[in-house]
Parts: sequence; C-alpha cells; structure tokens
Amino acid sequence: MTKAAPPYSLAERRRNLRRRDDTLLPNFQDMTDGAVQGVLVHSNFKPLYANRAFAHLFGYDKAEEITAMPLIRPLYPHDIWPEVEQEYNDLVRGDKIAPISRIKGLRRDGQEIWLACTKRVIDWHGSKALQICAFDVTNQVAMEQLMLGNEQQLRSILEILPVPIFISRRRDGHILFVNRKTCLLLQQSAGPLLRACSPEFFVEEEDRKKIHMMVDAVNDVREVEVRMKTAQGREFIAELAAINVDYSGEPAMLVSVNDISERKKLEAELFHQANTDSLTGLSNRRFFMIQAEQEIRRARRFNRALSIIMMDLDHFKLVNDTHGHAAGDAVLETIVRASLESLRESDVMGRLGGEEFAVILPETTIEAAAEVAGRLLAHIAETAIPTTKGIVHCTTSLGVAQLIPQDNTIDELLCRADEALFLAKERGRNRVEISEK
Ligand code: GH3
Ligand code: MG
Ligand code: MG
Repeated sequence: MTKAAPPYSLAERRRNLRRRDDTLLPNFQDMTDGAVQGVLVHSNFKPLYANRAFAHLFGYDKAEEITAMPLIRPLYPHDIWPEVEQEYNDLVRGDKIAPISRIKGLRRDGQEIWLACTKRVIDWHGSKALQICAFDVTNQVAMEQLMLGNEQQLRSILEILPVPIFISRRRDGHILFVNRKTCLLLQQSAGPLLRACSPEFFVEEEDRKKIHMMVDAVNDVREVEVRMKTAQGREFIAELAAINVDYSGEPAMLVSVNDISERKKLEAELFHQANTDSLTGLSNRRFFMIQAEQEIRRARRFNRALSIIMMDLDHFKLVNDTHGHAAGDAVLETIVRASLESLRESDVMGRLGGEEFAVILPETTIEAAAEVAGRLLAHIAETAIPTTKGIVHCTTSLGVAQLIPQDNTIDELLCRADEALFLAKERGRNRVEISEK
C-alpha cells in the first residue's frame, strides 16, 4: 500500500486557499453597493471606493463621480477641513475605530448636511485606508437644535419670572433647573440645588408622591398645599402647581412654588379675630353657634348624648358699680379661666354676650352635665378675684339641658337651657337648674 501523495504542493495549496477566499467571500463592492448606508474608502483623502448611497448623500448620481475626484475635499465645508485632516491622521496612526460621530458634509449643490459616521482603518490591498460608513442626520440635527433653542428660551423665560420654579427629573427627583427665585426661597445657590433631589425639600415624602400621582392623572396640577422646607431647614407652607414636561429629552416635572405661609398666618389671624372674643379668648356668639351646630350634627350621626350649660353671672351690675368696669373685665377673664379648668378639652365654651356664657358638652348626658355645672358653680364661687379695689367673689346661675330628638335647631336646645337658667335666677341665684324635657 502506497501512501497517497498530497494533491498539491504547498505553494499550490496556498494559492488555492487564497482563491477559495476570493471565491467564497463576496467582494467588498458587492457587499456595500446596494447598502442604504453610504460607504467610502479613502487613503489620505484620495477616494478608493464609494458606494451609490454615499454618492446620493452628497447629491451625486453615481459612485464613480466620487471616485473620479482626485481628493474628496469638496465633500467637506471649508471651515471643518483642519479638523477632518487631524482626525484622519489620528485614526490612521492609532489604528483605532472611531466612535460614531457627527460631521458636516457639503453637497454638490452647496448645501450643508449633517452625517452620522463610523470610521475605521482598514487594509486596502496592502496599505492603510479609512473606511467611512455614513448616513444623513440633517433633519434630526435641525430638530435637536430647534428643541435646544426652545429649551434655552424656556430657561430664560423661567429665569425672569417672579415665581420660584424648578424642574425635577421624574426618574429620581434630581433637580435639573432652578430659577433665581427658587434659590432665594430654598436658601441655597443654584450649584448645590442642581446636585440635589426634590425630596429633600418636602417635609412629607407622601406629599411629593401625591403630586406625582396627580400629575400623572391629570397632567396639570394646581393649588396643592404642601409643607416644604428650605436647605436650612426652615419649614413653610407651599402652594404648588406642576406639569409634566420633557427636559433635555427626559421626562421631568416643572413645579412652581408659592410660599403661602404669610398668607396662611394672616388668614388664621383674621379667622381668630372674626371668631374670638377679645376679652376672654372664647369663641364669640357667632362662632359658638357654628361649633354647636357641628357638635349636634356629630351627636345625631353617631347617636351620642350631648348637653348644654347656660351660665349668667349673678348681680354683675353690682360688681361693675362697686369696683368699676375695668375690674369687671378682670373678673370676667378670671371666671372664664376658672371655668375652663373645670371643663374637658372636648367641651366648647363660648361667650354669648356680656356676662353670659354657654358650654357644649359632647358625649354627655344631662346627669353628667348637671355634675359639671355643679363643679363650675362651686369653682367660680370659691375663686377669689383680686382687683385694684380689693378681692371680689362672684357667683353664677346655671341652666342645663340635653339634646332631644325633637330639637330641630341649636336654638331650641339653647332655649331650654335658658329657661332653666331663668329658673335658677328666680330660685335665688348661685344654683343649677335642669331642664325637665
Ligand atoms: P343677674 O344676672 O343676677 O340678674 O344680675 P346682673 O346684674 O348680672 O344682671 P344682667 O345679667 O342683666 O346684667 C349684666 C351686666 O353685666 C350689665 C353690664 O353692665 C355688665 N357687663 C356686660 N358685659 C360686660 C363687660 O364686657 N365688661 C363688664 N365689666 N361688664 C359687663
Ligand atoms: Mg347677670
Ligand atoms: Mg346677663
């Protein structure tokens, strides 16, 4: 048996291998000619290959019009030429693949276009060449510039508004924009604020979540009251308005902040003034009636007992006459303080006028209310009230009534308590009488 001779010599095998490569692999031209992406190969700007798509990008009909150029300089606007040359040299020297980049091109008709390109150094028949794959992104760049222009415009508008406005990223609350007024409000300069996240400025995380949920639901939220805090920790009440926006291509929320702490304080003061008796600090008649109506509604809804005490100081004219009006005032103040000591937190005492008072006692039967009235009577009687003209002792008469199903209004209940009070006066004062109904 003879050993089979190799079919070819080594040289032949090598030749054959190369031939097989050539036949098996489609050539570069076949691969790229029909591609939608423009492909160009050049060596030191001498065109070696271009496909049809590349020629079309620049407004030429045929690839040959590109490859016929001695140098591809006409494809670049004059002003970027140094940059193009520099990049070529860097790439060829470093043999690296450039990341995708944008570059300006010049069409045959003189119009500038934007191209997104990948470039890599390849071996072109034994020497180095640069292969460029390019596609047209002119429209995209124009859109981006338009958006950028709008964003800059938006920033300058927001900057001059006299309202604190910030923009935070939806994803993580990161603050992307603050105007000057926000810096003043949050007691922090723009630099640190732009490194901060919006949750840092909300007292309750729940409030911030609530705004996000509302914005998601209706896209445009107004007049939401939340508690916020400055970078220094000062708390304030904020009225927020918020909308969803796109900022630098990311979903974000534009928030305007109105510090309404002062307004709230003023409102509270006005409310207090309108509803409170200035001498004693008790609810005035008007507000007492509102509170009483509320308590009655609650008692009815939950089917609970409710009682009322009416109280009138005895012979108060005499106190005024003997000690003077100012002393009378001091006596009224002291008696109110003493009365409040005998009452529960949930009881509501009001000054109905002059030296007449009423107390609403929620969750209280007539028996329990009578006991409270007795306590008031005793406590007031034993309170020694110093005035400039000496010590004053004052007594009271009290009438007690309980809410009954037949009562339609607070007035009917008050009326019965008042009748009981009248009885107490009639029966000698310094005593408690209970409405029989
Ligand atoms: P009685 O109720 O026991 O029948 O006798 P009285 O002297 O208290 O009589 P009445 O309740 O009718 O009079 C109330 C007096 O209280 C009249 C008024 O001079 C005095 N008074 C009312 N409001 C004030 C007040 O704000 N300050 C002072 N110092 N006195 C007041
Ligand atoms: Mg009186
Ligand atoms: Mg009176």
